[in-house]
Amino acid sequence: MNRLALGASRSAPKGPLLITGLTLIPEPGVVLMDSALVIAKGVISEMGPSAAVQARHPEIEQVDGKGFMAVPGLINAHTHVAMGFFRGLGHGQDEMIERFFFPAEKSLTPELLAPLSYSYLYGGLVAGVTCFGDHYYFSEGVAQAMERLGMRGVVGETVADLGGAFPGRSGWDRWRKHIESWPYSERVTPSIAPHAADTVSEPLLRELAEYATANKLPLHMHLSQTRGEYQRVQQREGCSPVEFAERCGALTDRTLAVHLITSTASDHKILKDHGVTAGICPASQIIYEHLAPIAEIMRAGIPIALATDAAASNDTADPLSEMRLMALLAQDRGVPEEHRSPEEILGMTTVNPARALGLSAKVGTLSVGKAADIVFLAGDLSTEPSPKPVTNLLFSYSSRNVRHVMIGGDFALYNGRTTKVSEDDLMAEYQGAVAEIHRRLGGKPE
Ligand SMILES: [Zn+2]
Repeated sequence: MNRLALGASRSAPKGPLLITGLTLIPEPGVVLMDSALVIAKGVISEMGPSAAVQARHPEIEQVDGKGFMAVPGLINAHTHVAMGFFRGLGHGQDEMIERFFFPAEKSLTPELLAPLSYSYLYGGLVAGVTCFGDHYYFSEGVAQAMERLGMRGVVGETVADLGGAFPGRSGWDRWRKHIESWPYSERVTPSIAPHAADTVSEPLLRELAEYATANKLPLHMHLSQTRGEYQRVQQREGCSPVEFAERCGALTDRTLAVHLITSTASDHKILKDHGVTAGICPASQIIYEHLAPIAEIMRAGIPIALATDAAASNDTADPLSEMRLMALLAQDRGVPEEHRSPEEILGMTTVNPARALGLSAKVGTLSVGKAADIVFLAGDLSTEPSPKPVTNLLFSYSSRNVRHVMIGGDFALYNGRTTKVSEDDLMAEYQGAVAEIHRRLGGKPE
């Protein structure tokens, strides 16, 4: 029998594959020791104790997964993967969205978007991300980049008629047509992505919300993301950003409302009543302005999807480090244990974002019939013993332990290396696109 740690031939399973001996965390709150998975035609076709599954399937190619923890593919719910060219520049900036991002983003053109996406997508993949919820301009390129790496994604075109890098509705008109002739594999699906409450007018937000509802698409938007947004919406609309979004019909159980840093108790009641998922990006929020009132959001029972945001304000796409940060911040802020247990935190990168992004039937947990999106983490001397695997996942493991990442039954990462495309090619194309942006801006942004 082959060891899962060895044998490059495993990177492209041809027929069904049986992996035994795993420490399996099929969903938050469930740990199955010495367990096996059968993967066939892109989905999990069987799951159970190793010996029993092995006995039932002597005919299937077997791989020994002893020493590995297998968890559902991690979902990074809110990103702008093409913003790699801002990496490291967000620290110490004020109002970077208006003063810094929008002017530089005006130099973007469609052909740059795929290569600009490679750095953050790669950074997520090697850290166990199987799916990104992304939100940016010329997002056809972002979708193409996900396809090239073999990743899953829910991709939205940032739409804003009162601000943003490209104010107006042309992006939305283009995106709507693109959705209607969607050219990608089943792994990449669309979302509707208003930029924020201060940059989108009431008529346009109503139109976007109606389209999302009519077509059962996720609506993914920044909301109450800065003090400036809060003030501008108060001035223009006489209400909070959350109240404005509610008035426009933009808050439903398919809405992912991201940041909420200036949200209040009455906003939380509205969000809870409409079944909205809160997108929380702890590192990005702290670097940009300040952390959302997570204790109040968690106590209000609003489901949270954790995310990393973008290279400008984080600067990595690593959900394990974000989970650990979130667990510590929640503890520090006095959140009761039942709302911040390691299992609750794991749900914020698996079950909760899957639901908010409309992917619950396919991913978010490991169960028979679901897509085989699985992260295999190798335990080692530094992680032993692991008496509480979910706690250990957050506090003993890191992206360093991510060895293989399977997406839709295919290894997109094997032995820490990309399988679909060479890392050298990704690096060369990414660096070329970054250099082109710098050329257009007349130098590197500072
Ligand atoms: Zn964002």
